[in-house]
Amino acid sequence: MINKEQYENILKTVKDNDATLVAVSKFKNVEDIKALYDLGQRDFGENYVQELMDKQAYFEGLGINDIRWHFIGHLQTNKVKYIASFVHLIHGVDSLKLLNEINKQAAKHQRILPVLLQMHIAQEETKFGMDHTEAYTLCEYYSANKGTYKNISIDGVMGMASFSEDLAKVKGEFDQLVSVHEMLQKHFFLASNRFKEISMGMSGDYELALASGSTMVRIGSLIFGNRN
Ligand SMILES: *Cc1c(COP(=O)(O)O)cnc(C)c1O
Repeated sequence: MINKEQYENILKTVKDNDATLVAVSKFKNVEDIKALYDLGQRDFGENYVQELMDKQAYFEGLGINDIRWHFIGHLQTNKVKYIASFVHLIHGVDSLKLLNEINKQAAKHQRILPVLLQMHIAQEETKFGMDHTEAYTLCEYYSANKGTYKNISIDGVMGMASFSEDLAKVKGEFDQLVSVHEMLQKHFFLASNRFKEISMGMSGDYELALASGSTMVRIGSLIFGNRN
């Protein structure tokens, strides 16, 4: 069951901030996704390749082809090929190896696939992502080899803050992501008008994320209810 009132409140806040709402539908059934689709939602986020493939196929079977599927989880290199034909945006690029594979698979489908660079901003060990130096090195390589990367578009950065009640800490992590975005933009993307997304903010911290400069929030449980 989706929470319609909650969804509409969130959507208003997101729109007031000129940001994009990605409804995170992982583990949620296609009926709930369809209910949200019928309210006008088009951007959906998924974490697991197989689940994303199944859902995409289901909606395609219904003749629904205008859902923008975001891959927001950790993407294994050997699975890129399964989603490269249809995925709208891959949020979690955290290595050159993955960037190369996405470029290669996107080429097979003659498309330019947009991605975000995942930054490690939380103090927790478990979260994926690059630090400033790794991101800098990756962008340096990308810039120097632009001719090779014809099928990829680096559209910005993504990060996950700590699960914490300590708002000052979370705010500090969001500010870090904003500043790394600015740093990378200045060094590598001045000529690009696409490097503008900052994907940050989830159910527990999206308002703070928007206030801190997020352009894209990824919200699951507030809209769809808690995951089992
Ligand atoms: C699950 C998930 C979300 C959504 O989390 P909620 O707390 O349910 O809003 C956002 N981003 C990523 C990367 C996720 O894995």
